[in-house]
Amino acid sequence: MRLRTRLFLAAFGIAGLSLLLAAALVAWLLERQLLDRIATDLVAEARLVADLVARSGTAPAVAELDREADSLGDSLGARVTIIETGGRVVGDTAEDGASLAAMENHGARPEIELARSAGIGVTRRYSTTVERDLLYAAVRVEHPRVGFVRLALPLTAVDDQIASVQRGTAVGLLLALAGALVLAWVTSAAMSRRVSAIAAVARRYAAGDPSPQIGAYGDDEIGTVARALDASVQELGRRLAELSRNRRLTDAILAAMTEGVLVVDARGRVKMANDAVRRLLQIEETPVDRHYVELIRHPEVAKQIGRALEVGGSSQTEITLSTEPVRVCLASAAPYTEQDDPGVVIVLHDVGDYRRAVQIRQDFVANVSHELRTPLTAIRGAVDALADETDPASRQRFLDIVARHTTRMERLVTDLLRLARLDAGQEVLRLDSCATASVFSSVAAELAPVLEAKQLRVAPRIEPGAERLAADPVKIHDIIKNLVENAAHYAPARSAIELDAGVEDAEAVVVLRVSDRGPGIPDTDLARVFERFYRVEHSRSRNPGGTGLGLAIVKHLVTLHQGTVEAAHRPGGGSVFTVVLPKRAPSAGAVETPHRLTA
Ligand code: ADP
Repeated sequence: MRLRTRLFLAAFGIAGLSLLLAAALVAWLLERQLLDRIATDLVAEARLVADLVARSGTAPAVAELDREADSLGDSLGARVTIIETGGRVVGDTAEDGASLAAMENHGARPEIELARSAGIGVTRRYSTTVERDLLYAAVRVEHPRVGFVRLALPLTAVDDQIASVQRGTAVGLLLALAGALVLAWVTSAAMSRRVSAIAAVARRYAAGDPSPQIGAYGDDEIGTVARALDASVQELGRRLAELSRNRRLTDAILAAMTEGVLVVDARGRVKMANDAVRRLLQIEETPVDRHYVELIRHPEVAKQIGRALEVGGSSQTEITLSTEPVRVCLASAAPYTEQDDPGVVIVLHDVGDYRRAVQIRQDFVANVSHELRTPLTAIRGAVDALADETDPASRQRFLDIVARHTTRMERLVTDLLRLARLDAGQEVLRLDSCATASVFSSVAAELAPVLEAKQLRVAPRIEPGAERLAADPVKIHDIIKNLVENAAHYAPARSAIELDAGVEDAEAVVVLRVSDRGPGIPDTDLARVFERFYRVEHSRSRNPGGTGLGLAIVKHLVTLHQGTVEAAHRPGGGSVFTVVLPKRAPSAGAVETPHRLTA
């Protein structure tokens, strides 16, 4: 049933019931008042008649009394009955003569009995004499013969009056009911309109549109309820927005994390797993709401979660994951307690890089120590020998040893310092347009003594398009010098060292090549020669003046130019080092960025 109908029925029902009750009450009261008044009048008239009879002669004849009754009845508009103390009727408005004499004894009539005992008797009953409902009022008379005077009024007259009162009440009731009907209709319509408007807003809220309702709700309780609804929905909307903002932030943080994060609830169901953990633990399925045992194939991690769930307490374990490449991770498990939803958080931290860095540092320190020990031992030996040596030629020989090894240490320290500067990003690239030919010729000129010593030829070849380079002049010089120095060392005497410059990739890059006809580099070492202190194991070609850092510096400098460098076999024997540089100068911002290398 619609609200409007309910409201209407309720309002109209209450009004109708109240009106009906009121009308019934009014009708009943009026009827009673009317009857009371009629009875009072009748009693008063009966007293009057009794007075008149009492004043009449002491022993009037029956006929006289009957006449009296007739005349009094006429003037009063009621039936007057005069009754002797014994109950015999001696006068009656309705009966005369013989019929009067035939009237039965009235001494036992209820009103007479009441009058006999209380002086007055009023009853309402059916009269067998006149055959209708009558209202009787009897009073005792102080008279030697007459005992009672009774007045009777036919109730048809009374009923007529009552009926007219009831008719009036009914008309009033009908009019009031019609008014109530209209009022109930209008009120229920207005009320249901307001409630419907609020219901429409509530439906809109439920559908997920929390935009506030514009309009007045009114000042009554309905308005208060509507405003409270509005306020709570707005507040709820605000909190939901904040919650989803926080959720997005958490998701973004978790997605950006390199650490793997996995959350498992007390029943072992995965609540959350970020991309990193899925990658590390090689989880391909959708993990949320799955049991961790089904998802995690790594027995150590599964065991750690199980332990944390059963025993509680935090734990840390180092695990090796069979990913490609293999990773070493520190897995930390910590239980979390949330009122009704406890669980365990697992964080996988890839410590491979850290371990590698530690290893590199340790190797580096060992290498530096080793590199320094060789010249130091030689210097120490030479100095000891010098102390006892008196022969000038031998002394000179020992002094030469000291000088050579000091120079070597100097070089080592210079190279180490340079690498440290490059690592710290302290060497800034100052790009310029350099003529390739002059880079080649200045390197050849600087290394002329070395080249001449082995009668080596430098054969530069510059293809069209590669005449100029976008490079830092000092650094490109160092790059080529290092490569040519190595080539000069490893190349056989009287051979040629080729210096080529060309363009590739639709002239996007300049390619510089330094080739020699030396022993070349074994396949397994090609990629590693750029590592610090890495030397190919062929003692025959060991460069006594080398520090083992030259190619590491080259790689650093080339990377600073956003280029690449690699070593390869030269067709026909020997090695070829290829440096690829972007032809156009890289953007200033990118160039100035310090590059850190672990090579
Ligand atoms: P070094 O100072 O010992 O030359 P580098 O870093 O310049 O150190 O070179 C690393 C290693 O690479 C060298 O020890 C050598 O074994 C190898 N290498 C470099 N250049 C050549 C080359 N042109 N021919 C053969 N081997 C080379």
